[in-house]
Amino acid sequence: MAMNALAATNRNFRHAARILGLDSKLEKSLLIPFREIKVECTIPKDDGTLVSYVGFRVQHDNSRGPMKGGIRYHPEVDPDEVNALAQLMTWKTAVADIPYGGAKGGIGCMPKDLSKSELERLTRVFTQKIHDLIGVNMDVPAPDMGTNAQTMAWILDEYSKFHGYSPAIVTGKPIDLGGSLGREAATGRGVVYATEALLAEHGKSIKDLTFVIQGFGNVGSWAARLIHERGGKVVAVSDITGAVKNPNGIDIQSLLNHKEATGSLNNFDGGDAMDPNELLIEDCDVLIPCALGGVLNRENAGKVRAKFIIEAANHPTDPEADEILSKKGVIVLPDIYANSGGVTVSYFEWVQNIQGFMWDMWDEEKVNKELHRYMTRAFGNIKTMCQTHNCSLRMGAFTLGVNRVARATVLRGWEA
Ligand code: GLU
Repeated sequence: MAMNALAATNRNFRHAARILGLDSKLEKSLLIPFREIKVECTIPKDDGTLVSYVGFRVQHDNSRGPMKGGIRYHPEVDPDEVNALAQLMTWKTAVADIPYGGAKGGIGCMPKDLSKSELERLTRVFTQKIHDLIGVNMDVPAPDMGTNAQTMAWILDEYSKFHGYSPAIVTGKPIDLGGSLGREAATGRGVVYATEALLAEHGKSIKDLTFVIQGFGNVGSWAARLIHERGGKVVAVSDITGAVKNPNGIDIQSLLNHKEATGSLNNFDGGDAMDPNELLIEDCDVLIPCALGGVLNRENAGKVRAKFIIEAANHPTDPEADEILSKKGVIVLPDIYANSGGVTVSYFEWVQNIQGFMWDMWDEEKVNKELHRYMTRAFGNIKTMCQTHNCSLRMGAFTLGVNRVARATVLRGWEA
């Protein structure tokens, strides 16, 4: 069993605060969320029956700028998890050095069981309940698990009914509504840039290594595609429908076509079916969890065979697993850096919406180049913290993020 997400995140934060020697009062104020919102969302289903859901938005910290983070539609959404994810966004935006705080939202639902019009109604009701608590300069949502550009378009539309047309209220929008080229691929692309930065440090490159990828949604499929493009061998992939392996390397485009055509990874003729529970302990050089939190825990960490773990998911490794992996010499690239590509390109999108000038309309290369610059710079900053404090990459990233937020908080002061 994995440790509770919030307990795990708090533990990492406290560890970083100790390394930095933060004042205990400041530590406490950084940990407590700015605001926690919980709303009831009742909608009529297509057959006319009523169904109620609970929606959350946790706004963790705004010292460095408007709070920022995704909205997740998933049955496991609960207050502790949203709290943990909101806090991780605070450190993530600080690590990326983009002028945002952190937030996260979610609705406890199974989006696959809802029709498109039910999802639209649910999204609109949720937006109605929180519209006066979010804002272009206050809190800017984005997609996360179970949500996408269409969800953002509904939020934009509903929010604009109350506040006038406001494209900057959400990021990860459709391009036609002011979204950014490259945003959809950005988290996966950022994961690959982060992986390249780490591997280069160890004198390695993607083309010489084998990869196992857990999750084949937006993040996992883009990471897989870009790794495959660079000559890396993706030897196993899983999602909620199943898992497939091929020691000679899976042809990712064929797997994408297969998933598109059949809706699952099963019966793919370019590899063999495997037990998804075995995926994380499959033989490979680099393991990339791109799905849920807590998947690496004290039960399986000892059996991991990868040499590198790239945390494309949020908090996939709990602190007990971290200790076990570190003793085994496995290098873990932490989530608050590894998956920061999505929110970084969200920042480019938001800046353009605010300016009313879309500089990336015609130039996805420019977006990718900027993203590369941000990812490379952050890696260098993390390494400096690791050297200064003689600590792991996770603590390097946490101390970097927490220190930046602490400095901003102190500078702004507390006078009423
Ligand atoms: N949901 C993504 C994350 O966890 C992106 C958030 C954003 O773009 O605001 O980082």
